[in-house]
Amino acid sequence: MKSAKYVFLFIGDGMSIPQRMMTDEYLQRTEKRGLLINQLECQGLTRTSAANAFITDSAASGTAIACGEKTNNGRIGMDASGKNKLVSSAEVARDNGRKVGIVTSVTINHATPAAFYGHNVSRGNYYQLGLDLIASGFDYFGGGGIAQANKEDDPLYKGDIYELAKEAGYTVSRNREGFQKINKDSGKVLSFGAADALPYAIDMSEDDLCLADFTRQAIEVIDNPEGFFLMVEGGKIDWGCHANDAATTLKEVIDFDNAVKVAYDFYEKNPEDTLIVVTGDHETGGLTLGFAGTGYRTQIETLGAQKYSGGVMANKIKEQKAESLEELKPLINEMTGMVFAVDGEYKKGGLNLSKVDEQKLQDIFDKNQKDGKFTGHSALSKALVLMLNNKSTVAWTTGAHTALPVSTSAQGVNAQLFSNMLDNTDISKGIKQVVQK
Ligand SMILES: [Zn+2]
Repeated sequence: MKSAKYVFLFIGDGMSIPQRMMTDEYLQRTEKRGLLINQLECQGLTRTSAANAFITDSAASGTAIACGEKTNNGRIGMDASGKNKLVSSAEVARDNGRKVGIVTSVTINHATPAAFYGHNVSRGNYYQLGLDLIASGFDYFGGGGIAQANKEDDPLYKGDIYELAKEAGYTVSRNREGFQKINKDSGKVLSFGAADALPYAIDMSEDDLCLADFTRQAIEVIDNPEGFFLMVEGGKIDWGCHANDAATTLKEVIDFDNAVKVAYDFYEKNPEDTLIVVTGDHETGGLTLGFAGTGYRTQIETLGAQKYSGGVMANKIKEQKAESLEELKPLINEMTGMVFAVDGEYKKGGLNLSKVDEQKLQDIFDKNQKDGKFTGHSALSKALVLMLNNKSTVAWTTGAHTALPVSTSAQGVNAQLFSNMLDNTDISKGIKQVVQK
């Protein structure tokens, strides 16, 4: 087996076939291009189940993808018994003299990234996973910050994780100014764009750092003659799907694809030495392309009319302090592209709201009143997102994960290891082989 000097593993959290196809079709219709990840040379399917459940969580699937063994939902880098530590592909890479980088758009000690350096019976022990992060000695951690970094009541509390990281020799940056100072001579690095998760791509401003920025910086820091292993997680694809928010989800998938593009550019310069693997850890939301109310017609491109994530829309509705639905109509139109009837004339198709739609919104407005004030901004935002999704011919079945398999794609050295129908543990087994000396 030929090893690959430079190994990239991209994990779209909650990204399965529907998320990829929805985004691909959206890009085909709006930009006449598809997702890069759907064009890589090897394409296969991957089963995602946990040791104790057909529907996995991100801890068990992250552990399977990182360590090559099925475990129970909730466990990080530990076997199903909860007694034995497992070894991740990132640790194998480190022990073979490579530099290692871990990047995510959610907090760096969240389940998926933690599965590559952490060992804990519970994904909820964020502080302890933060200690594991430092103990790993990996070379680069970037993206979202450390959750519960200073949890003083943790039984293993030793001090603030950021401070402990500095004591361990890490250069620590927690904002854009710090980000710009980091380069290949910075030594080991923690580089975060937010205290918690990064903003959703759909809500980002010019000043926000995105997944591609951290991927680029990680490569700069860990590129060296002995080779590297870099794991990049698009963690908020999952969050968009938990919220059943298709527009937010597809912008996250595009953001993720842009990060893969950074690795692909690197691959094109080093095609004989590079492997890129792209997978998902499970499906989230039971997303489907097609809706009972719209038959065989599809209109995925109109998801582009949504300007913000559901959460930001709820805040904007709240700020308006509206006393009637009427007052909110211009804002709703601006945020979603959906069109209210004029003079009681309800138009059909497109993003026109029907009489039934409008009555639903009116009911939410009327039912969520306290002391003469509208308090249902979240419920209204959720209803608007759902209406826009269904008009755009996509639908959801759950706010949780599902047992659908995911797509796995690969390009470069030994990419064929990742074709065909795999188990998620096979991803780890393949990567552990190619990160040998
Ligand atoms: Zn999830």
